[in-house]
Amino acid sequence: MPLQKRRIVIIGAGIFGTAMAYHLASPKTDVVVIESGPKPACGVTGRAFGWINTVHGVPGSESHALWRKAVSDYPALIQDLPEMSGFSRHGSLLWHATTQETEQLFATRQDAGEAVELVDRTTISRLEPHLRNVPDAAVFSSDDIAIDPIRLVGTLLDAAQTRGATVRFDETVTSIETTNGHVSAVRTSAGLIETDCVILAAGPGTDMLGKQLGIDIGMVLSPALLLRYACDSPFIRHILDGPRVEVRQSLDNTVFIAMSWHADMEETPSIIGESILSVLADEFDLPSPLSLISAEIGHRPTFEDKLPRIGFVAEVKGLYLATGHPGLILAPYLARLAAREILHGETPEFGSPSP
Ligand SMILES: Cc1cc2nc3c(=O)[nH]c(=O)nc-3n(C[C@H](O)[C@H](O)[C@H](O)COP(=O)(O)OP(=O)(O)OC[C@H]3O[C@@H](n4cnc5c(N)ncnc54)[C@H](O)[C@@H]3O)c2cc1C
Repeated sequence: MPLQKRRIVIIGAGIFGTAMAYHLASPKTDVVVIESGPKPACGVTGRAFGWINTVHGVPGSESHALWRKAVSDYPALIQDLPEMSGFSRHGSLLWHATTQETEQLFATRQDAGEAVELVDRTTISRLEPHLRNVPDAAVFSSDDIAIDPIRLVGTLLDAAQTRGATVRFDETVTSIETTNGHVSAVRTSAGLIETDCVILAAGPGTDMLGKQLGIDIGMVLSPALLLRYACDSPFIRHILDGPRVEVRQSLDNTVFIAMSWHADMEETPSIIGESILSVLADEFDLPSPLSLISAEIGHRPTFEDKLPRIGFVAEVKGLYLATGHPGLILAPYLARLAAREILHGETPEFGSPSP
């Protein structure tokens, strides 16, 4: 008699859910991804900027050490999924308001062992010929990657499906059922799905599903704004992060801008999006006009200690948490280790969550 396949339900088709599906799907598993939206990356992943970097982390912290491992793991993912090279770019330039601050940033990053270069005005102009207000110095990270989050998630999900996973869109998980302290099923808007293991990768929705089981994971939602502009021509080659704007242009020429967002902001996201057009016209020689495509707020699932929550939950057997920020950076690496833990009982290097 053939051995019964291990039944795994993954809640959420964001970066965590799809990376988990990609690594868990196999002939020995029966992986089902349930997504409440009509397509992958409907949640915060679809509103992410897509910068794979360590430069925003705090050197010396546990979270920064994890970022570094996750970033160094990305080239292996690109090798496994060659489609990614069709929507990825490399390199970032970061500078502060004064040269002294930029030099300080460079020194901190260099001391932390990061592969950064301090580049001067001439080099910056060569790297970014359309930049008008060229700073005297910038930190250049040639290994940083800009990925398209929506396409990455689509690629991971396609690959998971090729390995045997099934995906159900427009279906919401309303509760996780347990029997004798072990997950036994998920109840969805379409019915009941029996399972041996549930991966809770619902991004901001993880908190609510956890609380239904009496588990408070302590998630804090942190809003940020993503602006997208249509443009006919390429004019930005790298990820650029200066005092006025954090911007990149994808290979299809779409311009992305990420900004922080506060609940007390007076203007709507679209008004901010329109007003940023003048900043772009000021900062760049624009080869063709830009028009705002979308201005969307995404709620980043963060935790006070800046670490993700990944691992089996002590209170409910068979329930595995997979959430945290920055998900685009962390999820592909963490999901690979998590799959080994779930399928083979290997103890992962990243430790357990602390719900
Ligand atoms: C403006 C902005 C810029 C960002 N830039 C970066 C960046 O450069 N680099 C980086 O690494 N990170 C970045 N992030 C953060 C990143 O987007 C998140 O850390 C990451 O996307 C979280 O992924 P997730 O899979 O946990 O959540 P989500 O993408 O929200 O995925 C969860 C999915 O679960 C589904 N879901 C929820 N509840 C249920 C339910 N009950 N039943 C079924 N489905 C459900 C949702 O519809 C959603 O699709 C940025 C975020 C923002 C807003």
